[in-house]
Formats: sequence, structure tokens, C-alpha cells
Amino acid sequence: DGVKALKINDTPLPKSKNLDVLSEFEKSKSKKSASFVVVGHVDAGKSTLMGRLLLDLNFVDQRTIERYRKEAESMGKSSFALAWVLDQRTEERSRGITIDIATNKFETATTSFTILDAPGHRDFIPNMIAGASQADFAILVVDAATGAFESGLKGQTREHALLIRSMGVSRVLVAVNKLDTVGWSQERFDEIEQQVSGFLSATGFQLTNVSFVPVSGLLGDNLVNRSQDPAASWFTGETLVKELENSEPMVRALDKPLRMTISEVFRSTQSPLTISGRIDAGSLQAGDALLIQPSGEKAYIKSLELDSEPVDWAVAGQNVVIHLSNIDPIHVRVGDIVCDPKSPIGCIDTFTVKVLAFDILMPGQVDVHRGRLHASGQIMEMPALLDKVKGTVVKKNPKIVKPASVARIRIKMGSKVPLEAGQRVVLRSNGETIAAGLLE
Ligand code: GDP
Repeated sequence: DGVKALKINDTPLPKSKNLDVLSEFEKSKSKKSASFVVVGHVDAGKSTLMGRLLLDLNFVDQRTIERYRKEAESMGKSSFALAWVLDQRTEERSRGITIDIATNKFETATTSFTILDAPGHRDFIPNMIAGASQADFAILVVDAATGAFESGLKGQTREHALLIRSMGVSRVLVAVNKLDTVGWSQERFDEIEQQVSGFLSATGFQLTNVSFVPVSGLLGDNLVNRSQDPAASWFTGETLVKELENSEPMVRALDKPLRMTISEVFRSTQSPLTISGRIDAGSLQAGDALLIQPSGEKAYIKSLELDSEPVDWAVAGQNVVIHLSNIDPIHVRVGDIVCDPKSPIGCIDTFTVKVLAFDILMPGQVDVHRGRLHASGQIMEMPALLDKVKGTVVKKNPKIVKPASVARIRIKMGSKVPLEAGQRVVLRSNGETIAAGLLE
């Protein structure tokens, strides 16, 4: 309506300090930052391990753990206390599983880490994808207990490894967990290392980017502190936290055009329209003009925050809260992309994607997920079956693509969506992940 439009247009534009954000960032850099996703079969011990890691790094106090322990005991699940450090919501507690990407931060002397905790439950794959699409590397937790590793392999271990690989994650730390249950058997560790190396390299991981650490998440052995158990003395490698510190974050696209996917839209004390999300590429500062896609509307940055502190600028890799001005809230939704009006992301309805199939693929209906955006589309054609490792064409126009194969497929969406080459997407159908890969 006219009155509203007038108000939006008449609001004075926020002032810019015209900072050179990249040199400001260089000056401010004290620690490197990295994010990782935690994957593995349900019950492999992912939440327990991360809870213990935070406890041993003094990021949770003993009192909190004690409180969780009492609550857990009253529910008859005493072993879940450590896991609750990560799964802080009541609904999750009563179900005993992780249901969303709980982001947790912690720091060591050299690095500040963000844990994108991934759930192991089958229904929660979309959250894991959202986590993997932001991760620099992954911790794959496997359960060394007798029989558990083998059933995990038949379960989600393999699926998760395929998924993170096809989402572009190349570095994996394998935490061979619960070694306390097998008396710290080196033989068991070696057997698991051999098998996991085998399937990781078959999935396209380079083994030079894969490390194995024998741990007990429950007792805290080889996480931050070396195992004191004499039976574990055969292990002379690095602890899990040292391996984390040694993992180089992916090169961030700081000097690329701005791209940020909106993960939340809300009203705040600062502005009736506040958004948050992780900056995927580029940088921004107060006063900048932004373009919101797919609406194509312009907005301005009134002010911004990092970790609840007001700041002048932010760069790729950071999770930022932005207070907007000069835009009508109807043009802004979760899953939309915020970009630089001078080099905006285009909106397309047809694209080619190189995918890893988890299920049989054939032409037909699919849901396309990119971060928090999801929309329905159709597999129109499948031009090529590709070599899994080399990416060369093995067969043209296959009728179907079998699980665990890599293929190039063409997709048509029901409407135009902001997508561009290099983005990670996931295809789902009837609630199951059927493929994941990169836009070409
Ligand atoms: P998640 O589903 O992968 O997050 O697994 P949880 O962290 O919830 O752990 C599943 C179960 O394994 C719980 O009962 C934990 O107490 C137990 N557990 C986890 N890590 C260890 C470990 O290192 N040793 C032993 N003995 N049990 C563990």
C-alpha cells in the first residue's frame, strides 16, 4: 500500500563507515576459526563424546553436569548426562536423541571451533545436510564395541560418509569410540581402521586427509587428555583435540561477492526486521545495500551483531545477526539469499548437478534442499553416469542411476530459486535422501 511504501522509502539510509573490511579482518585475526560436523550411526556416542570434550576443555562446569546427571537418573537414563551438554532442549532430552543442529562453540589455544552437531537418527538427515553444507571437516564417530561397528556400517556410518563427501567435505577425523568396552584392544582398532579406510577411499576421500584416534567419549580418554589406561599405551598418535587443531579450515571465499542464506527472520528491539545466518562468501558492513533473492528487493544494514556484540563488519564463515531497514518484511523469508546488489545471485529454474546417488534415481519428482531452502522440482534427464573418483563419463543417458553411483542430472524447478554453480544441494523424495551433490 501507498502509505507503507512511502514510509519505507522515506526512512533515511543508514550511514556507512566505508571500511576496507578485508584489511580490518586481517588486523583483527587472532585465532583461526573452523567448524565441523559430527556424524555416525545412532548410539555411536556422538553426543557423549562432544559433551565430554566440552567438559574437559572447561567449557561446561561440573555443576551443570551434576545437575544433568541427577535429572538423567530420575528418568532412568543416567548415561545421557554428558550428551545433554549438547542436546539442551527438553524435548530432545525426553526422547534421548539429537534433533537439530545444535551449534556449540569452544576454543583451544590456537583455534575457535563451531560444532555443528549432527543427529544420527534416520529421520533427521535434513539437519545433518544443513550442518555438512557449512562444515570445514567432519568427525566420524564409530562404535568399537563388539558387533556395534559392523551394524553401524550396515546402518548410517556409510551413508553419512557418502553424504559429507558429496557435500564437499574432504577432511575426516575418525573417532574410534567406546574402546573401553573392548579392553583397549589394538587389534580391534586396527581392524576398524582398515575397514573404514577402505570404504572412505572407495567413497572418494584421500586417506592423507583422514586420521584415526582411539577414544572413550564416556571416560574422556584421548580427547583432551591422553588415556591413562595401561592397556591403551600402544597408541602414540595425537589426541582428538590436537587432530582438530591440526585440521586446516577450508579456504574461505572472503573476496567473492556476498552470499548469505537467511536462517532466521525475527523482530528485535533494534529493528522490526532482523535476520540471521552464516555468511557463505564475501563480507558486509553497516550501511551496505543488500539484495534479497528471490524477491529481488533491496534492503540496508542498519546495524549488525556477532555473538550478541555490536560490530561494524562481518566476513564469510561468521554467523551474523543483521538489523535491516528500508524494506518491507513481506519480501524476506527463511531460506532466501542475501547478496551484493552489484553482483547478485541469479534465480534459475533449470540446472545441472553432479550427484552421488543414495537410492535409485530416475526422471520424476524430487525435493531440492540447499541449506534451509527447499523447493520441489523434477529430474528431467540424466545425461551421464560418471566415474566416482575421476568424474569422467562412463555411460551416456543411463535409464536409471543406481545407489552409490555418481551422475550428472538435469533438474527443473516449479518456480525460480536463487542457485548458482558450486553450491551444495541435496535431493530428497518421500522423506528419504536420494542424492546429494554440487551444482555445475
Ligand atoms: P549418539 O546417538 O551417537 O549421540 O550416542 P550417545 O552419545 O547418546 O551415546 C549412546 C550410548 O553409548 C549412551 O548410553 C552412552 O553412555 C554410551 N557411550 C557413549 N560413549 C561411550 C564410551 O566411550 N564408552 C562406553 N562404555 N559407552 C559410551
